Amino acid sequence: MKFLANYSCLLTLIALPLAVSSSAVLAHPVAANPASNRLEQPANKSDDAFYSTARSQIEGSLGTVGPDYYAVYRIVERIARANGLDQTPWRVRVTDELNINAYASDVNMLTFEAGILEQISGDTAALACVVGHEMAHHTKNHIPSMVAARVRIEGLQEEALLQARSEVESAQQQGNILGGIFGAVTGGVFNATGANSSIGGILAGNVVSSTLQGLNAEQTQQATARAEELYNERVEALDAEYSTQLRSQESEADEVGYGYMVAAGFSPDGCVRVMNVLDRIETSRLPSLSHPNPQDRIRAINTLNIAAANQSLVQVGQANLRQSAKPLGYGVGRDGASLRIESRFGAQDIDSTFPQ
Ligand SMILES: [Zn+2]
Repeated sequence: MKFLANYSCLLTLIALPLAVSSSAVLAHPVAANPASNRLEQPANKSDDAFYSTARSQIEGSLGTVGPDYYAVYRIVERIARANGLDQTPWRVRVTDELNINAYASDVNMLTFEAGILEQISGDTAALACVVGHEMAHHTKNHIPSMVAARVRIEGLQEEALLQARSEVESAQQQGNILGGIFGAVTGGVFNATGANSSIGGILAGNVVSSTLQGLNAEQTQQATARAEELYNERVEALDAEYSTQLRSQESEADEVGYGYMVAAGFSPDGCVRVMNVLDRIETSRLPSLSHPNPQDRIRAINTLNIAAANQSLVQVGQANLRQSAKPLGYGVGRDGASLRIESRFGAQDIDSTFPQ
């Protein structure tokens, strides 16, 4: 959503200030059946037999996160077929990070962190809500603007430090009097921002040391304090530039994702339960660049949760499921750290499907 915002948010459901998601490395690489890139295809098995095999393969080979992978596989596979989203593969990752978060990234990659899975453990409809939200970020093409905002914010630190360095050096060149004034000004900023203001505070230490290399201790302190002031100003400007768009994308992902999960046959109440979890996260009342207030999200979901509208969604979903009746296959991603859910065309053998 972002559900959390660490990256593109997914689930970034939550309200982390636009933090950059680290590349979400899977703590448990998907090592299932490494000899084969394609674990299993529906072939001629009945659905029950196919899913039973899938469960034992996925759970049996992925250790403690195996059951989570299987649950996510089943839900993504179902939502994709019920909504006509099975034309290209989906990729999923489950991490052991305890953040209450999930997010969409790259192309059709869905990442679910242990923290959100723990909070809705065993609640299939709630997980379907999270899955639907993240899938909606992809289908509504939200990832490019999320990444643009992330890249902009990543660049702000260095920009601020470079400008601060230039100001400090320039003041130095103009003599001690101006330099003294500059020091007094930045000293004030330093004091005003308090505990956050120091090397290793809001500015990453490695960026500070590489950008301010060559300055003496006093200059470094002045430049760092001034850079923090500039950084805060620029984050505020960036917030103004992106927040409307990012928040409206979150609301859209909530609404579209809700439609996906209901069409796939999951209980709409699962979304209400997820939003209630998000509302209780300790940072949920803090301002967020990308996420609407959870209370507003709950109200929006309740507006959608109308029996007749839900029934229409279910009918559309059932028609799509008749069109794509076979379970989607799965396999280890080529990155070795994700599970790929095949498209409805993904079970094709090159020789048998080659044009005559
Ligand atoms: Zn989101």
